Amino acid sequence: MFDLVFKDAQLRDGFQTFVADLAVAGGTIAAIGTGLAGRREIRAAGKWLLPGFLDVHTHLSLPFAGAVSADDFFTGSRAGAFGGVTTLIDFTAQRPGEGLREGFERRLAEARGRAAIDFSFHACIGREIDRPLADLAWAVETGLTSLKVFMAYSRAGLMQDDAGLFKVMEHCRKAGVLVTVHAENGGLIDFLTDRLLGGTTRPNPRGEPPLGERADALPASSLGIGALPLTRPVYTEVEAISRLGHLARATGAATYIVHVSSGDGATALATARRHGAPLLGETCPQYLYLNDAAFGGERGHDFSCCPPLRAAGQAAGLWAALQAGDLQVVATDHCPFRRADKDRWEGDITRLPMGLPGIETLGPLTLWGGLNRHIPLDTAIRALTAHPARLFGLYPRKGSLQPGADADLVLFDPDRSAELTAAALHMGSDYSPYEGLRGAGWPVMTVSRGEIIVENGRWLGEAGRGQFLARGSAQLDGFLPD
Ligand SMILES: [Zn+2]
Repeated sequence: MFDLVFKDAQLRDGFQTFVADLAVAGGTIAAIGTGLAGRREIRAAGKWLLPGFLDVHTHLSLPFAGAVSADDFFTGSRAGAFGGVTTLIDFTAQRPGEGLREGFERRLAEARGRAAIDFSFHACIGREIDRPLADLAWAVETGLTSLKVFMAYSRAGLMQDDAGLFKVMEHCRKAGVLVTVHAENGGLIDFLTDRLLGGTTRPNPRGEPPLGERADALPASSLGIGALPLTRPVYTEVEAISRLGHLARATGAATYIVHVSSGDGATALATARRHGAPLLGETCPQYLYLNDAAFGGERGHDFSCCPPLRAAGQAAGLWAALQAGDLQVVATDHCPFRRADKDRWEGDITRLPMGLPGIETLGPLTLWGGLNRHIPLDTAIRALTAHPARLFGLYPRKGSLQPGADADLVLFDPDRSAELTAAALHMGSDYSPYEGLRGAGWPVMTVSRGEIIVENGRWLGEAGRGQFLARGSAQLDGFLPD
């Protein structure tokens, strides 16, 4: 007798689809078969049983431009669970003079007692790299097997120059750490911003959030939110990705590009891969579903994120890159703000908290991409489950339906129609960038390590039940070009 059995479910792990019973015992998947009996049995005929989704890019409780992102580790993880997310990876924050440990301890303290699903961190570093690189062996032992670096945000003290990037990549290759990179040409973005806004700049030695600090040095822009894409045009992303491809090939470091926002950027990544660069990449639902027409509305600044939303034609290239395997993952860059936070900008993009809510809508929007034939359904499932789990060293414990894996499961009803509205969602924003978007298919149950934490839109989990995940090295076979 098992703890929990899903009867006659369509099991889908992105590789195979078949109808069977799946049994859970002691928090793990215990058996797959027929005629399995459990203390609790869920009739799942006609529904899909999927591995719980991973969101490997979130920013919970992130200070930005005088505000703080509107979800903490509890509310953000709970919202994710409503959308089928059972694992999240957020970021540590390094202060000047620190190695990797201090930032990790601080973030772990913020997440412990709050997170309702399992979580881990990418170790984030700023411009200073020597102390953090000296901690790489410690990081691997602790299970922080990915590092985040920036090619932009010089005024926040985050940007690496090419020599710094090269050095980080060499060290990470030797240590078996996956380099993850924010790929935008920061020098060019700063130049375009200054020229457009006509302001002066001053350095920010304290490494505070990038845009708020220098706000009083700049006049409000007459362009409004329309200035944002002009200061961060597509070619600043394309150039950074191409350059990174050369550095990745030269150093041999597997390098994962976060939030690829444009079809042109995805093409640059695919071209570099074809030339042997060990590049991997992620895109986000906002770049697949939204475009810069959103900036034209009265509340266009609610759609601000970095990189910005692109012209309508760019999304097709992102879907194509997912299908071709040049992008492997869909994640969110979840960084929600409330309208009152966004309104503090008063027309000046340098004072605008950047980011969108996303963790709860990640799964449905990605699967709708499969159901609406932008990509094969299995591709969509893998981009939420096996792929992020393998690249971030959690497979098959997470992202799989194999016996022995954690029983992190989503029961998804493909016939249940849904309309995305802020009122019905659970994230910290008081608006949704997708307000009114309709689709077929929604999670009806979420299970984390065998525990039903969401059932038919009811929250059954609790704060603090999520565990820190020490991760192994990236499992790269099959992902990199020959
Ligand atoms: Zn981010």
